Amino acid sequence: MENEKKIPYKIYLEESEMPTTWYNLRADMVNKPAPLLNPGTGQPMTAEELGGVFCEELVKQELDNDTKFYPIPQEIRDFYKMYRPSPLVRAYCLEEKLQTPAKIYYKFEGNNTSGSHKLNSAIAQAYYAKKQGLKGVTTETGAGQWGTALSMACAYLGLDCKVFMVKVSYEQKPFRREVMRTYGADVTPSPSDKTQVGRKILAEFPGTTGSLGCAISEAVEVAVTNPGYRYVLGSVLNQVLLHQSVIGLETKAALDKYGIKPDMIIGCAGGGSNLGGLIAPFMGEKLRGEADYEVIAVEPASCPSLTRGKYAYDFCDTGRICPLAKMYTLGCGFIPSANHAGGLRYHGMSSILSQLYDDGFMEAVSVEQTSVFAAARLFARTEGILPAPESSHAIRVAIDEAERCRESGKEETIVFGLTGTGYFDMVAYQKFNDGEMSDYIPTDEELAKSFATLPEMN
Ligand SMILES: *Cc1c(COP(=O)(O)O)cnc(C)c1O
Repeated sequence: MENEKKIPYKIYLEESEMPTTWYNLRADMVNKPAPLLNPGTGQPMTAEELGGVFCEELVKQELDNDTKFYPIPQEIRDFYKMYRPSPLVRAYCLEEKLQTPAKIYYKFEGNNTSGSHKLNSAIAQAYYAKKQGLKGVTTETGAGQWGTALSMACAYLGLDCKVFMVKVSYEQKPFRREVMRTYGADVTPSPSDKTQVGRKILAEFPGTTGSLGCAISEAVEVAVTNPGYRYVLGSVLNQVLLHQSVIGLETKAALDKYGIKPDMIIGCAGGGSNLGGLIAPFMGEKLRGEADYEVIAVEPASCPSLTRGKYAYDFCDTGRICPLAKMYTLGCGFIPSANHAGGLRYHGMSSILSQLYDDGFMEAVSVEQTSVFAAARLFARTEGILPAPESSHAIRVAIDEAERCRESGKEETIVFGLTGTGYFDMVAYQKFNDGEMSDYIPTDEELAKSFATLPEMN
């Protein structure tokens, strides 16, 4: 068509077109996500109780189901400008390779040093900690992207940063650790003997390679026992999805520039922050009945919280010291198989996404890690970017859907989130390249065991 604008490989936004507000999807949800509960009383956590652990402004955001738009403070917008807007890429080369009539786009969040979308929330959380006059923040990191992002944000603002890194990653990814230390963070392998809860877990499970839930317990303990410190979390929480809405808002603005309406939006789901952010404005339209999109969450078959989990109140951490969240969960005692290399190891899922999934507004699929790495390799060889294993879950399903379009001849428009790069995941890539990677799918029996760790109230 003569008038049809040729879609460029990369759709960029001007600085002036960048979002000035975050979008709070909860405001458009009829069934709101269930509140966090105090494990002692079974009552909803109050702002005062949460304030002992989290920064004040972040508590406000966490509890706010009603305010639709939050202005992004100017300082955060300025920081965003160093690496945003992130490109929305038309995957022409992948389409060609797959010989599909589908039109594939990906929003690439790996173009900053931390290598993932996590920086979008890290800078926001560090900013509010700084504004509150705190000395520093504590956190956990699994694969290492969140810890790196937070270290960068803290270095920028002059805050102290204490990171508990899941032991298996700490050992597998020494360079990730050095990046954090370069940015000034203090990095400890978890479980450690620095905390009461760490010592308890070590005594109970000697030789454990750790889990996110366990590192969370340690980081929270350090935050509440050190004056001037608060705990920050890189995923799962409502506030994190709020900050990550910048991904979806930019994506929508870029698509709107060319009049493109996606049929399908795909994202990987660990705790749900990138997916929740990517889909936010689209899901808002869907909830308000203005448009319809197929939304697909992709998770590892080895840690299948949405596809095989229970929708129940559960602890956010293994140590059972955090509040209870109602979410799709495998049980806070779930520790993914040690052969699982591809990230997305968290036992639960964002309450917002859990509610949307339970209400039928989105679908979920699980994929096995060898097929995920096969997709990663194909993507690297066609689009050039070396994807993070987490992101490659979304690539896998985008490719599957594009191949379905080839069979059916449908020209669907697919948008997926490419959340980061995989430079620090070369041990996993090496296993895959050497043919030594295997798949692990927990049996129903194993899951029954971890479901037994759900709190009794359910
Ligand atoms: C942390 C991370 C994820 C998963 O976390 P979500 O909160 O589910 O988005 C996905 N991809 C990358 C690159 C990550 O660093």
